[in-house]
Amino acid sequence: MRGCWDDSAVQGRDVAGGPRPRRRGLRSGQLEHGPRVEEFEAVLGRRLGNPRVATVNCGTSGLHLALSLFTGGPEAAATPDDPGEVLATPLTFEGTNWPILANGLRVRWVDVDPHTLNADLADLERKIGPRTRAIMLVHWLGYPLDLDRLRGIVDRAERRLGFRPPVIEDCAQAWGATYRNRPLGNHGNVCVYSFQAIKLLTCGGGGLVVLPDEELRRRAVLRRWFGIDRRADRVHGDYDVAEWGFRFPMNDTAAAIGMANLEIVEPLLARHRENAAYLDKELAAVPGVELTERAPDREPSFWAYPLKVEDRDGFMRRMTEAKIMTSLISRRNDAHSCVAAYRTDLPGLDHVYDRVAYLPVGWWLSEDDLGHIADTVRAGW
Ligand SMILES: *Cc1c(COP(=O)(O)O)cnc(C)c1O
Repeated sequence: MRGCWDDSAVQGRDVAGGPRPRRRGLRSGQLEHGPRVEEFEAVLGRRLGNPRVATVNCGTSGLHLALSLFTGGPEAAATPDDPGEVLATPLTFEGTNWPILANGLRVRWVDVDPHTLNADLADLERKIGPRTRAIMLVHWLGYPLDLDRLRGIVDRAERRLGFRPPVIEDCAQAWGATYRNRPLGNHGNVCVYSFQAIKLLTCGGGGLVVLPDEELRRRAVLRRWFGIDRRADRVHGDYDVAEWGFRFPMNDTAAAIGMANLEIVEPLLARHRENAAYLDKELAAVPGVELTERAPDREPSFWAYPLKVEDRDGFMRRMTEAKIMTSLISRRNDAHSCVAAYRTDLPGLDHVYDRVAYLPVGWWLSEDDLGHIADTVRAGW
């Protein structure tokens, strides 16, 4: 029978039943769920050193899915009881934090460490409490959080509270970053990468959830597609959904693009790091400029290059005049109207927010570009 339930007409058998050569990619008839996604997952798992991965259609849905593994999703959160809160960092792209709201949870802001621009872990420890459902942190610009210290904090919280708050790491800007010689995704937490168009490893649009154990991986794979087990025999629709899920799968076209980019990503990452090392050397002693932390136990990915500068507006104006792209990347997330109810004192962020600027540092810069950036900053503003 040839119909919309019968894939055979497009998957390599013609109506007469004879075999046809297998077609790959765009002509395979499997533009969405197909073999490329599984290949891509296997390769990504090997690259990260953790095979417990699940691709998704973007980083934001990965974060949404990750959080839902620990909250039971919007239904559970919508009970009249307090849904609980997620400890979160305000200095990030909104994609880190809006999944907290989408899961029906409250945000509790953790202050920012002016040295790293990541969450202030001392403040995090003070704020973990009986209402903490999860901890959602970012490796901002791909600078890894101190994950061993974080684990110690969560260990102590577990002893104090009698439960262990799950940690989700937003690694969207951190492809290639390592902490103590291991890629992010190997430190006991749930990690989420983004393969969006402007990320280092891109497949147009896509993401990856990396899980610390097999049971969480199994649940993540089910929840990314309605809670339906795509591998099980589903003849006549006779199957059960135990835990409902979303429609977040990566498509085969994106996976094919991602596979091709994965082959070239290492030298690009190396360029980001070399460019950052050059700027570190050239800018460290410039008056009015302060670099962020460079701890010896981690290798950042340098998605962008952060600087703390005096007279930030003047600095940005001067850069723009010199045709050097600067941007604030994102507004501090706690300042948005939609989260006004969660505002709180954040002295660390207040201290640094008006001084941070970001410079380009990516693989696309030529030696002349880098020299021009260094000369312009050194000449003052
Ligand atoms: C890009 C980004 C996201 C969102 O990823 P998408 O794949 O675009 O959904 C989330 N968090 C951070 C820090 C990002 O940079």
